Amino acid sequence: MIHTVVIRVKGYKMEKILYFDYCTIPVLIIVLFATLMRKMTKGLANRLFITIIILSCINTVFDLGMEFLNGDDQNVLLSVCCYGYYTLRNGTVVLYALFIFAITRTWYRLKSAALKVAIAAPYAVILVLLFTNPFTNKIFVISDANVCERGDWLIVFYGITAVYAVGELLYLIYCKRFLNFDKWVALMSLLVLSFIAVMVQLFYPHVLLEMFANSIALLLVALLVLRPEEMLSSSTVGLLSWKAYKMELKKIIATKQPVQIAVVRFVNAYEILTYLGEDRYYSYMRSVAEQVNQLYKKVYFELYFEHPDNMYIVFDSCDDKLEDETQKLYPLMKDRMKEIDSSGIIPEPRICMLRYPKDLERYEDIVILGHKFHGLIPYEQTFCRASDIIGTKDFEIGSNMDSILNRALTRQSFEMYYQPIYSLKEKKFVSAEALIRLNDLEHGFISPAVFIPAAESKGLILPIGDFVLESVYRFISELDFEKLGLKYIEVNLSVAQCLQKDLPQKIEELEEKYHVTPDKINFEITETTYENIGDVIHENLQAITARGYTFSLDDYGTGYSNIQRVSRLPLKIIKIDKTMVDDMDTPDGMTIMRNTVRMMKEIKKELVVEGVEQAEPLEKLAAMNCDYIQGFYFSRPLPQKEFVRFIMEHNGVM
Ligand code: C2E
Ligand code: MG
Ligand code: MG
Repeated sequence: MIHTVVIRVKGYKMEKILYFDYCTIPVLIIVLFATLMRKMTKGLANRLFITIIILSCINTVFDLGMEFLNGDDQNVLLSVCCYGYYTLRNGTVVLYALFIFAITRTWYRLKSAALKVAIAAPYAVILVLLFTNPFTNKIFVISDANVCERGDWLIVFYGITAVYAVGELLYLIYCKRFLNFDKWVALMSLLVLSFIAVMVQLFYPHVLLEMFANSIALLLVALLVLRPEEMLSSSTVGLLSWKAYKMELKKIIATKQPVQIAVVRFVNAYEILTYLGEDRYYSYMRSVAEQVNQLYKKVYFELYFEHPDNMYIVFDSCDDKLEDETQKLYPLMKDRMKEIDSSGIIPEPRICMLRYPKDLERYEDIVILGHKFHGLIPYEQTFCRASDIIGTKDFEIGSNMDSILNRALTRQSFEMYYQPIYSLKEKKFVSAEALIRLNDLEHGFISPAVFIPAAESKGLILPIGDFVLESVYRFISELDFEKLGLKYIEVNLSVAQCLQKDLPQKIEELEEKYHVTPDKINFEITETTYENIGDVIHENLQAITARGYTFSLDDYGTGYSNIQRVSRLPLKIIKIDKTMVDDMDTPDGMTIMRNTVRMMKEIKKELVVEGVEQAEPLEKLAAMNCDYIQGFYFSRPLPQKEFVRFIMEHNGVM
């Protein structure tokens, strides 16, 4: 407590304890300052909250004024305090009801006339009673001795406050599912504390506890309900966070409130971030946010930022005009960059306008759309409506990935294909890469480039990885490698698999079950595995290498390829990515490929070049002394039987 001095002032009949009121003012001022300092001024709920604090502060002054002026000559001032106190005391109760609607995001319900009347009518009764009080003296009366005495009908005020309180309590109970538990408790505390204080004051009128209890409850609300640290995506950007967006989305769906969402995706965000550096990138984002604020001055919306490339503008209404306005964002965002940087770097925002619940109803679908829409429209298209995308095969697959993967696992609709790998020196096929395929009953063939990352993010990659290992070991056990001229099969290992503590044990079990020796398998890992390297991965790779397996680094030339890292790791093979092959038709691309091959050979790595489709790069790669070629030029990935037939035919096995 800030003020602990007990002051007793002579009342007209009793000694009134005012120290609670004294404490109230500093508490409210602290709450107000904290709210303003944390910049919690935008949005309906914040504004209502600030109004409640200010009015509560003024009301406490009126409350004190009433007590100080009792028995004084200042008759007019005493009247002002009395009328002010009773007007505001009940006014804040109404504002609190509105605050609950705003914070639970159910404000749109107030469009209902019946609800408006239900909220306004009791307060209207209070105002009528107060206006007529000078003639009726039923609420309070200022006696000849200048003392404010309670009137017979004052109890009506308490009754009306109780009606509001019960209404708010029931509504909060109904809204529990839209709020976190601690927030809900903080909001309930305001009601409970106020109720206790009113009861105390009703039976012990000399203890002025009401305003103090109110201020403590407001403090709780400020601490637990309005938490900027939870909302701001970063203090540097100063926008609401991705987490806040997801919470908001859940609330919107729980309340079925129709909204319109503009998703802005900066497709080259990473490049801009790297070029500008964090500070300037965030000031660009801030300036974009300002632009958005100016553009939609007349409508209510919230702006969220998902680091580093997505922005979400959630409008409380659905309106065709908003779509027209939103199309203006694209040139505005490009212009803003010129103010931040004059070198000519151009941001590439893509905007998608979505209507809830008309276009999409499920939370997951809305999140997926925000992340995927830019890949589902032509690159040149800068604006789209969600309704244009929904229904396309890619979107259908993306939004049903969970059920597709589960279905595939239970029905075993995965299948392993094998893509032959050609040895330039031995002039025959010596190995193959095992590649998983998924043929869904409903959606047909789905590329692993789509479902593998989805399975990784949904925690389903491990059972898929187990299926791959089991199938490959079984397949190898059925083959006569020597006769076919094969040396080993390459198997992709995902990061999650490498993180499994029992991976070496699983491999050992498969070896025993299928009588497969380690020299027949080479595991492919990517650089992401090394970025994630921790004790488990390190130990796993060591244990697997110790058993006699070899590793290759997949997709070299994408991501952050680092030659120093390559040289330090126990890798036998480096797989050069298709993108580097595609670049070979430019002089620079050729130079890069030639030097990469030379460098890898010098550090004694074997090289597989992936994605060779034409004879021309093949000849050039052969001239560079590459070891192996994998690509559509020789063969696409093939089902087991076709693969065996292919190898027999091309390796001259009769
Ligand atoms: P990756 O491991 O780099 O596999 C090579 C990909 O390049 C395969 O795509 C293959 O079909 C494709 N490819 C090979 N030659 C050519 C060519 O000449 N032209 C073109 N356009 N493409 C070529 P796929 O099978 O679609 O697999 C994509 C990615 O999915 C794989 O890239 C790998 O990261 C992942 N993946 C596939 N199967 C598995 C698996 O069993 N386990 C794990 N963890 N990941 C897998
Ligand atoms: Mg691979
Ligand atoms: Mg690859």
